[in-house]
Amino acid sequence: MELLKRRICIIGSGEAGLHLAYALKDDFDITVMERKSPDQFKKGRIMSTQVHFGPTRKREKRFKMPNWEDQPLIESIHITIGNEKLFVGMLQEPALSVDQRLYYSYSINDLIENGVSFRFEKVDKEDLDILLEKYDLIIDCTGKNGPLFPFPTEESLTPFQTPQRKCIVGYFEGIKANNPLGVSVTVLPELGEMFEIPALTEQGPVTILFVMVVPKSDLDVFKGIKYAEDFTLKMRNTVQQFFPDIHTRIDEENFALTDDNAFLQTAITPVIRKPYSLVKNKLVVGCGDSVFLNDPITGQGCNLSSYCAEQLYETLMKYKDSKWDIEAGEYYWNRTKQYVTEVTGWTNAMTKPLPNHVVQLLLQVAQDQAKADEIAEWFANPTKAYEAFFLNNIN
Ligand SMILES: Cc1cc2nc3c(=O)[nH]c(=O)nc-3n(C[C@H](O)[C@H](O)[C@H](O)COP(=O)(O)OP(=O)(O)OC[C@H]3O[C@@H](n4cnc5c(N)ncnc54)[C@H](O)[C@@H]3O)c2cc1C
Repeated sequence: MELLKRRICIIGSGEAGLHLAYALKDDFDITVMERKSPDQFKKGRIMSTQVHFGPTRKREKRFKMPNWEDQPLIESIHITIGNEKLFVGMLQEPALSVDQRLYYSYSINDLIENGVSFRFEKVDKEDLDILLEKYDLIIDCTGKNGPLFPFPTEESLTPFQTPQRKCIVGYFEGIKANNPLGVSVTVLPELGEMFEIPALTEQGPVTILFVMVVPKSDLDVFKGIKYAEDFTLKMRNTVQQFFPDIHTRIDEENFALTDDNAFLQTAITPVIRKPYSLVKNKLVVGCGDSVFLNDPITGQGCNLSSYCAEQLYETLMKYKDSKWDIEAGEYYWNRTKQYVTEVTGWTNAMTKPLPNHVVQLLLQVAQDQAKADEIAEWFANPTKAYEAFFLNNIN
């Protein structure tokens, strides 16, 4: 007779929760609690720019997550500092950005079809005692609005008390794609950055314009904008003034947001927490932004969530038939800590003026395609970026 499967409750079905639901569904009895229905995701506001690099796409395959294979693949990273285009580095494996509204709603429906239980309700702190009694394990995947549980802050990895950037994002039609198709990164020292990202939405391929603004700088011009039309106008003017390369590719007549919810303004105060805790004598764990929240400047949040979900999966499989206690929590943290430290260190450094040795490196790379390709890989393999910033071992 088959033993009853252990019961796991995943709170939140974003990048982390979805990865875990797919990964764990065959070995455990999974319930996902999510405050938004698939339809609410679909009709709601954009949430991210969500570039998934090669290693994340491999994990999605490993866990048999939905396949977006034929869509506009990101092959390269274009780097510009000021108005000087430095180089285009080719990625070893293509990346992909699928609008989370589409990705989340599609994946939730797919999981339901595959027998995973969903409860579409917001979990409040008052609900936790009941959930703790009912489930063998709770995984807090509530994202940047979380966590619901008291995971202790890792002070050494949490240097900022305020956001280092304002994040301004719009999904647009009417921009001719760059060539080779890729993410364009433009760094304007002391003002901020622009990331131009090809992406897939329900309406088809679009171009994301993602402006990261140093607060109170001359680029800090989106304050108080609430309506789609005003946002489009402000973005058009900002691109014309600060990002001339993108401006030359804008088709004035067709430049528009893909829909009225295709823009967002937010700002993140990064905070890293130890991803496990003992509550009422039961282990609870966190995964994704609820415990590892970084500024989006290096595009690592989804990728880090995916990485940590895989580490948590491996942990729960190792402890499948033994007690889920502090030892299991510590094992999960030990598997993730090094990578979290590297992603966080690099990301925090990117919000500061680029160190001189990195600027010199970028300038030299312009003459050397193999080195340009290595820099592009920083985004897929942030350990390499961490080494270049802190161990200075690319020359
Ligand atoms: C502007 C911007 C651009 C970004 N660009 C990139 C990028 O290019 N590449 C990249 O890798 N990362 C990027 N990120 C980061 C990335 O979006 C996040 O790191 C990633 O979505 C985190 O996944 P998650 O599952 O932890 O949280 P989320 O994706 O936020 O999911 C959390 C889920 O939990 C649900 N939830 C929350 N609270 C409750 C509750 N109390 N009860 C029930 N449900 C709840 C929410 O509805 C949501 O579905 C960006 C972020 C921002 C803000």
